[in-house]
Amino acid sequence: MANIELKNITKRFAKTTALADVSFDIRDGEFFVLLGPSGAGKTTTLRVIAGLEQPDSGGVLFDGAPADAMTTPERDVAFVFQQYSLYPTMTVFDNLAFPLRAPSRQIPEASIKERIGEVAEKLRITHLLDRKTARLSGGEMQRVSIGRAIVRDPRIFLMDEPLSNLDFKLREALRVELKHLQKTRASTTLFVTHDQIEALTMADRIAVLNNGKVVQIGTPHDIYDRPATTFVAQLVGSPRINLLPAARDDGRVHVDGAPTAFEANGAGAALPGSFTLGVRPEDIQPRPEGAFAGTAALLEPLGVETLVYIKAGERTLVSSVPGISRYAIGDAVRFNIVRERLHYFAPNGARVSS
Ligand code: ATP
Repeated sequence: MANIELKNITKRFAKTTALADVSFDIRDGEFFVLLGPSGAGKTTTLRVIAGLEQPDSGGVLFDGAPADAMTTPERDVAFVFQQYSLYPTMTVFDNLAFPLRAPSRQIPEASIKERIGEVAEKLRITHLLDRKTARLSGGEMQRVSIGRAIVRDPRIFLMDEPLSNLDFKLREALRVELKHLQKTRASTTLFVTHDQIEALTMADRIAVLNNGKVVQIGTPHDIYDRPATTFVAQLVGSPRINLLPAARDDGRVHVDGAPTAFEANGAGAALPGSFTLGVRPEDIQPRPEGAFAGTAALLEPLGVETLVYIKAGERTLVSSVPGISRYAIGDAVRFNIVRERLHYFAPNGARVSS
């Protein structure tokens, strides 16, 4: 069992408030992701949970018991840092075996070997087991660091951007392996990243942090489809959501500087006079008979999709079209927008619910 609760954690460093009243809970067996830009407070949160940092106020509960009364072994967390902390003169195998060989564990050498074999295969480091870690590349060291954490079964894994030093293909492969490993072993995991794709693809739930505050907690689906603020809306989704200044008049929505008035739906009645309209690129759909008119200003073919930048009045909207687009720069483009999937935000950035 592992259930971790953070209750109203505040942590200051001199004049910087790294965490301001942060609360969330991580459920047993959950893959929980902390997502936020640099300086948001992600690493500080992990350090508070690990007991490496004392909060100024608030507390952490491990399975309902206050963690500050626990010794490090009692907390039983496995931490994967951004920097690798390996023993350079030991082989990769001995680095991986180190946490398992603690006298208190009494694990037979044959079981250690079997466990390391399994983990090494998942992390694609079997061929490195006899090498000294000082001679490895950054990406290899990163995988050994992950391996050293996951050879054992701690109460919780705390992972701080563990895939950040890997090239794209390896990152993609390890994303899948880590998620698979986490699910088959049902290990409670707190994973920190600033990469929205990692967060959306790996998380059971995501907490979005900004300036030391939790902005939203939800499933990847919640965060993508019902972002609580314009900040969250822009943080997830690539290319970024189109955010357009707009106004309401007679129940109709007018985008400033663009000939795109339409009936407000859903949130219509709750909308203030001026607001921000959010439209995901996949919800702007070029169609020959589309209701709105513009011009193709730029095309970015990406293989599975093409980004079509459509100039409509003074606004340029980005639309994502499956496959290769038939448009050329300068072509007239008619398009529809998927009205059920529009997002409305008040002037302070908060979502107007629909
Ligand atoms: P990154 O993605 O860049 O690692 P982060 O979200 O992990 O960022 P933190 O490292 O938790 O952010 O830092 C949050 C804030 O607290 C930052 O403004 C940082 O400069 C500050 N901070 C963190 N640790 C210390 C420290 N030991 N002394 C002073 N300020 C600190």
